[in-house]
Amino acid sequence: MKKILSQRAGQLKPSATLAIAAKERELKSQGVDVIGFGAGEPDFPTPERIREAAKRSLDRGETFYTPVGGTVELKKAVAHRFLEDYGLEYKPENIVVSCGAKHSLYNIFQAIIDPGDEIICLAPYWVSYPEMVALAGGKPVIVETSEKKLFEPEIEAVAKRVSAETKAIVLNYPSNPTGVMYSTEFLEQLARLVEANDLMVISDEIYDKLLFDGRKYTPFATVPGMKSRTVTVNGVSKTYAMTGLRIGYLATDNVEIVKATTNIQSQSTSNPCNTAQAAAVEALSGPQSEVVEMRGVFERRRDMMTELVNQVPGLSMIKPHGAFYAFVNISEFIGKKGVSGSSDLAGYLLEKHHVACVPGGPFGSDDHIRLSFATKKDIIAEGMKRIRSACAELSNG
Ligand code: PMP
Ligand code: GLU
Repeated sequence: MKKILSQRAGQLKPSATLAIAAKERELKSQGVDVIGFGAGEPDFPTPERIREAAKRSLDRGETFYTPVGGTVELKKAVAHRFLEDYGLEYKPENIVVSCGAKHSLYNIFQAIIDPGDEIICLAPYWVSYPEMVALAGGKPVIVETSEKKLFEPEIEAVAKRVSAETKAIVLNYPSNPTGVMYSTEFLEQLARLVEANDLMVISDEIYDKLLFDGRKYTPFATVPGMKSRTVTVNGVSKTYAMTGLRIGYLATDNVEIVKATTNIQSQSTSNPCNTAQAAAVEALSGPQSEVVEMRGVFERRRDMMTELVNQVPGLSMIKPHGAFYAFVNISEFIGKKGVSGSSDLAGYLLEKHHVACVPGGPFGSDDHIRLSFATKKDIIAEGMKRIRSACAELSNG
């Protein structure tokens, strides 16, 4: 039989985060008591006002197609948040709503990449960026960072990797998986580099509202000179605990990107789910107090997780500035008892100690594993107890 799969599909790796989530679910369904530090999704229920808005929309009979790039109401609600939160002005025609921020990113890469085009990703990066770039025919160019410098890239290191083929740089702060926020100084240096080399920036700001210790968020589009060069990506999954409802969006002054991503969507998914859009309108335009409450809970869990991890001999982590991930350095354990990298350690933790976490390799660092702390404190305590004894077992072997 002829080879049926395309090269593109044949080379594509499954999402490591979702693969772990699937394994965790499978073990749970077999009755195994698994601690889930795997996929990052808030454990809170979607706030009631948002669920009610979805029900009301269904009851009004809003079950038909909507415009491909989202309803005008939702685009206005998105624009309202940008203006109110950051003073950024976007019109509905600068916004495209998709089935999650992941989908918005996918559409953008499909819209801007020609074969051989390079996209700079800053390591550690979210697992899906390099895969989506490659799927679009592009070349992900990885810039390494150092944990000692809180994973903030050196501007010279970024500059060195810019070539005639570079089209865009992907940013994500606070970062999944490290939780770090970049300094204003770095963002300003980057802006100069972007201008000098005529680049675009894809700024994935999905964790902007989950920033701790009173830090203020700086969207990349607010850095002087950057609004016209930025495509901002965000969504309702994390901020409003709406992961399964699948609503994300992009905002950009670049109308060519708006048109191209809408066209791609019109030939692939059509509009995002009508009901979920109605829920997202309520999420973005209603009172924002749950966001503050959820952030507070995540911040306390962050404190607990950081303390417990750093108490385990051989493990260490930076205290995250935001998001809900602990990026734990496991280098002390590499080479012990057949553990040759992060996948082995994650496999060992899952199979022998029933703790699900994501190996760092697919995020660009095999010296780390990622633990999501979007889970209750007693689960964090139990999971860390298991990790502590797993580490002791490896050390004493
Ligand atoms: N970007 C980052 C950095 C993420 O962690 C995620 C995970 N949810 C997404 C984008 C995609 O989010 P969603 O598709 O659920 O909106
Ligand atoms: N973004 C979350 C994570 O990194 C959810 C899974 C996914 O979309 O990859 O765990």
